[in-house]
Amino acid sequence: MNSFSKYLPLLKNAMEELDNWRNSFGELPGDAGVVPEIADIEKLLPELTRRLKENYPFHHPSYAGQMLKPPHPAAWLAYSLSMSINPNNHALDGGPPTSEMEKEVIKDLANMAGYGSEYLGHLTSGGTVANLEALWIARELHPEKWIASTENAHYTHQRMCRILNTRHVTIPVSPEGMPDMNFLDAHAGQIGTVVVTLGTTGEGIVEPLHVIKPWADKHGIRIHVDAAYGGFFKLVAGLEGIDPEPWKLTGQADSIVIDPHKHGLQPYGCGSVLFNDPAIGRFYQHDSPYTYFTSDELHLGEITVECSRAGAAAAALWFTLRLIPLHQTGLGSILLKCRRAAIKLAEGLNQSDKFRLYREPDLDIVCFFPASEKKSTSEVSRLSQEVFQTLMKRDRNPLFLSLFKVSSDTFKSLNPDYIIDCEQTVILRSTLMKPDHENYIPELLHRLEE
Ligand SMILES: *Cc1c(COP(=O)(O)O)cnc(C)c1O
Repeated sequence: MNSFSKYLPLLKNAMEELDNWRNSFGELPGDAGVVPEIADIEKLLPELTRRLKENYPFHHPSYAGQMLKPPHPAAWLAYSLSMSINPNNHALDGGPPTSEMEKEVIKDLANMAGYGSEYLGHLTSGGTVANLEALWIARELHPEKWIASTENAHYTHQRMCRILNTRHVTIPVSPEGMPDMNFLDAHAGQIGTVVVTLGTTGEGIVEPLHVIKPWADKHGIRIHVDAAYGGFFKLVAGLEGIDPEPWKLTGQADSIVIDPHKHGLQPYGCGSVLFNDPAIGRFYQHDSPYTYFTSDELHLGEITVECSRAGAAAAALWFTLRLIPLHQTGLGSILLKCRRAAIKLAEGLNQSDKFRLYREPDLDIVCFFPASEKKSTSEVSRLSQEVFQTLMKRDRNPLFLSLFKVSSDTFKSLNPDYIIDCEQTVILRSTLMKPDHENYIPELLHRLEE
């Protein structure tokens, strides 16, 4: 999957095809005198490639730090082609074919989520804007009530509630990451919408939608599922030790966010939000003096908060999903490799006397920390940072992990033999989001042990 240049002949042929189409509109009226020349571009190119090589090796399994990976070459190819035209999926005026593609992939995502034929949804530039839209609808439907998300939820929910000028409340969680149902009971009257995260960004914890949804129904509370990172695991729920229960009710969530640019093999600029009730379209209602002229059909801009959006993002996702469909044997098979990598790493860490597993992974993020003589949270933090830096800076065989802060109280609950001497504890975190990670775990463990 790593070599992009071997796909260049395909891109070249298809680009020539598009050039023929461009040329079919006739000769341009004289030279517009546009600089620079090809030679100027060629001269500057080495500087760009030199600077790009200053990145971490996101494509390689030795990079297991943040949720980063290059898109699938099929996505890159489709994106590059479409971007040379630069359609805008705001309105059918701006990108008729890519708007159609967007509607098709949204149907695929809605299907995967378990929504019926009635839904409303669109792509967004990312998960944060997608969540903002869902929380905005939450506020519109329950203007006086609170939006609740757990301590492990993405930090942006709280910030988006500030932007929306609506009250946010943080649900405490147990050391195992389970929301405090007593807290929820006590505040049921004030809460309008609960955000349930299926795959938290920090540790990949899948929150118990199967517990919260029936509780919420009893109190007339809405559910928003934030599955920006975890959403595609729905395809393989029940396999490789992934608990199927929380995933069973995604189709009953009032709204759901899934990021194709996280686990859907897409370049950045591709999130999505879905609502199970098309009638919420009324909240988006606006007229535009500039657009919506070419057709009476629904324009995607009429149901999005963002105006201009890359049609290329829709084309890339559409092309990718035609090749790697949203089935257990399609995209699911890639996710299973990531999941197996996490299981293998967790097993290896459990057998190691140099490291300790922080908790059993729910999905493909594994957190752990260096074992030490001195059993204190400050020592764990110090050693984690040292290991993180040392591994990354090695000239030979570097390994890129990330760090993660947990509350020392939670740390102690999971590791009772440690004493608390600082408020937060820094541990190591590895995201195993590339299928190549499955076969790489022995090497990863070897580099850790070294
Ligand atoms: C990544 C992530 C987000 C934010 O999405 P962006 O695409 O980075 O804006 C929100 N929620 C969760 C659970 C995430 O993992």
